[in-house]
Amino acid sequence: MKPQRVAVLGATGSIGGSALDVIARHPQRLSASVLAAGRNVDALVALCVQHRPAHAVIADSAAYAALRDGLRSAGLSTRAHAGDEALCALVAGDACDSVVAAIVGAAGLDSTLAAARAGKRLLLANKESLVMAGDLVMAAAREAGACILPVDSEHNALFQCLPDGRLGAAVERLVLTASGGPFRGRDRAALAAITPAQAVAHPKWSMGPKISVDSATLMNKGLEVIEAHHLFGLGNDRIGVVVHPQSLVHALVEYTDGSTLAQLGLPDMRTALAVGFAWPERIASGVPPLDLIAHGRLDFEAPDMDTFACLRLAREALDAGGSAPAVLNAANEVAVSAFLQGRIAFLSIPAIVESALAALPPVEIASLEAAREADAQARHHATRSLSRHARA
Ligand code: NAD
Ligand code: MG
Repeated sequence: MKPQRVAVLGATGSIGGSALDVIARHPQRLSASVLAAGRNVDALVALCVQHRPAHAVIADSAAYAALRDGLRSAGLSTRAHAGDEALCALVAGDACDSVVAAIVGAAGLDSTLAAARAGKRLLLANKESLVMAGDLVMAAAREAGACILPVDSEHNALFQCLPDGRLGAAVERLVLTASGGPFRGRDRAALAAITPAQAVAHPKWSMGPKISVDSATLMNKGLEVIEAHHLFGLGNDRIGVVVHPQSLVHALVEYTDGSTLAQLGLPDMRTALAVGFAWPERIASGVPPLDLIAHGRLDFEAPDMDTFACLRLAREALDAGGSAPAVLNAANEVAVSAFLQGRIAFLSIPAIVESALAALPPVEIASLEAAREADAQARHHATRSLSRHARA
């Protein structure tokens, strides 16, 4: 059997690193054939030395020569490429069989869509592409016969708890768990002075900076409700969220007969990635088994939707439909980036998202252009409102 050739998009990131770890455990079965990253040429070349892909892609075209020269001086035959168009061509062509979509933010939409349209096995971590243009991505995957394996831990858990990974008539409700983030139990006043360093220090998961802030605001759970809606086709009212600080139960499926099926495991994304690579088989991921006696207890509580307004805003955007989720996502990306740069306060994140949603009433998203337009308008609006929220 030839190894499954995998394109790892966002190779230098947290999910990219976990994916490459699982791939390296199974040299007979998996090989990294394309590695793609945003800006960090040195880190990308170092990964190429380790994994020897046929192709390496850097998003920033200005870094092309540095990548080409770096690969050459490392003595590698890996071909250098730059830009999103080159990446999409590699994803769609025969350089890979599977695609790990782990670029952060709306920047991952084109390559995710290219993988779906080309009918690839799509290990989808980039939840923002579903939030921004979920109907288009799902329709493209359906038409081309692409198999989407959700890599977000909660959605991967739901996938594992559903027969054949699909919703049947006997499913009543899906329930996502949330760790609650680093500020669980605090009130709004206590959130006012939060620093970026405090916000990215997640108690259970080690992740990139953007999703860590999203976890602290609970926007991550809001994006995940929208993601679950697209992946599994259920409405807002049948996708629950329960806070579970131990992060050992990742999601639950409630069936009509009173059964609830849950998936448990240590908080380590390699499990979800191994499921994505091997399903319907299972392969080792490097994640140790769960020792429930050592952990001792599993706690659950309701999310605090008043303190953490982002979860409420995401649910409202899903109900509003059309471009509202794309606006929510884009305004959030702008606000989170400004927060990480120390330009705005933590509580300005929901304020900026709410104001973008109020200013840009939802329009229909029937095309990629319409999704991009909604994204651009929301970025414009959110960027302009940054000055009103500027930290003294
Ligand atoms: P990260 O910040 O650690 O890594 C992001 C990667 O994307 C990097 O390799 C970066 O170089 C690349 N990148 C950024 N902009 C790019 C661009 N314009 N073109 C090409 N590449 C670009 O982020 P992460 O935590 O690995 O998250 C990646 C995605 O996976 C996000 O959508 C996140 O929501 C999702 N996700 C992550 C986790 C996790 O545990 N980290 C869990 C679930 C879902
Ligand atoms: Mg998740």
